[in-house]
Amino acid sequence: MDDWIEINRDEAHIRRERAKARELRKTPYFQNLLRRGVCHYCGGHFPLEELTLDHIVPVARGGRSTRGNLVVSCRRCNQEKRYLTPAEQILRAAEAANGANGGSGATAHAPPDNGADPHR
Ligand SMILES: [Zn+2]
Repeated sequence: MDDWIEINRDEAHIRRERAKARELRKTPYFQNLLRRGVCHYCGGHFPLEELTLDHIVPVARGGRSTRGNLVVSCRRCNQEKRYLTPAEQILRAAEAANGANGGSGATAHAPPDNGADPHR
């Protein structure tokens, strides 16, 4: 068995887990997920060539290439995630949602009707 050691720049670990991820990608389980084409992070649908398998716990942080640690991710999410922890991603998504609905406060009353005469 492999020893579980504090890994940060363990090249051997990184190489081994990356290779394992490539092998896992070929398995029916992941082929099925990839064919479904749904990004784990943004929920969008993508063609196969836009999808990657992403390590939830990055290999460089000691993550392993196991089913539980690999999700289907679109390239954009994969790249954005690279430098963000899951908590930071949630915060960022919340901020984006708040900023998006900053509408103008102009709630005008219903405009005076013209033509819609209740007395005909
Ligand atoms: Zn995505």
